[in-house]
Amino acid sequence: MNWEENVRKVVPYVAGEQPNKQNMIKLNTNECPYPPAPGVEKLAAGMNCDALRLYPDSNTTPLVDALAEYYGVSSKQVFVGVGSDDVLAMAFLTFFNSDKPILFPDVTYSFYDVWADLYRIPYKTCALDENWHICPSDYKQPNGGIIFPNPNAPTGLLESLDVVEEILEANRDVIVIVDEAYIDFGGTSALSLLEKYDNLLVVQTFSKSRAMAGLRIGFCIGSEKLIGYLNDVKFSFNSYTMNMPSQVLGVEAVKDDAYFKETTGKIIATRERVKKELKELGFSFPDSMANFVFASHENVPAEKIFKALREADIYVRYWNKPRINNSLRITIGTDEEMDRLIAFLKQELGKIEV
Ligand code: PMP
Repeated sequence: MNWEENVRKVVPYVAGEQPNKQNMIKLNTNECPYPPAPGVEKLAAGMNCDALRLYPDSNTTPLVDALAEYYGVSSKQVFVGVGSDDVLAMAFLTFFNSDKPILFPDVTYSFYDVWADLYRIPYKTCALDENWHICPSDYKQPNGGIIFPNPNAPTGLLESLDVVEEILEANRDVIVIVDEAYIDFGGTSALSLLEKYDNLLVVQTFSKSRAMAGLRIGFCIGSEKLIGYLNDVKFSFNSYTMNMPSQVLGVEAVKDDAYFKETTGKIIATRERVKKELKELGFSFPDSMANFVFASHENVPAEKIFKALREADIYVRYWNKPRINNSLRITIGTDEEMDRLIAFLKQELGKIEV
């Protein structure tokens, strides 16, 4: 019985856990602690369920148009997917099709190597420097494409647009994907480089800054040619990816720019305050520009803190992996949630046996 020989075997990505406990503090998957825009809630409450009989718009036209208008690009430059994971998976399939390895940082979003393995794309990782920064010179070797998040995950470090452009300039013959899942928390998007580089794809998501992880909305913006190729692959895979409610509610979220700026502003303010308090408690971390902090403590191993927090129903993310096994990725929650986290650490850190 040899059927197993022909099975596509992969080691899947492991997402952060989604516990559902009363009074828990959930700081482990970089969700937004605030609700989606008020208009989204109103529209969801009055949604016409009769329309669910019908297939959704396979081109997600209203959402594509709303995003094109918001970002000042043509609708032909926008592609929408079921979370940015879907957009990234489609982009890997479409654009990374060379015998040469694609390049990405050694410490980065841990889905990249999973997609590369799934699609049999050769890859090579480039080590971040000792301060967790990307070294642009590493990306000047022969390659079949490049992807990196900016800010990077799980470090939270933002690279300047000069660094992004240096990488683009050296790689005119491959597709360069900048994963901007966390760009709305103080970073400058690479969208402004699109006019100059038709091989650049900028990927963003509604899951963090727009508080809609549950609806699964991601998108990317690139040259019309790139988006055309991406659509050809998407429509060879599954025409109806995004459901109707997500399409309609996504448009509503884009309309409320004031609310978007207010919530991201609140998260940035909380992050900056929490940085100070964590430092006082003996933590150090790269200077995050995302909605999380990647912190390690001067005395207490991260794994022990992770376990103590978990016992108290405070969930953060920990990876037992080389280079990052003494750091905790702590999502920025509401001020009240962060106060509870800090109070717990103040009280308990000294009691953890090291
Ligand atoms: N890129 C990065 C760097 C991420 O951390 C995440 C969140 N896990 C994603 C993409 C995917 O997010 P989503 O599919 O919710 O848009």
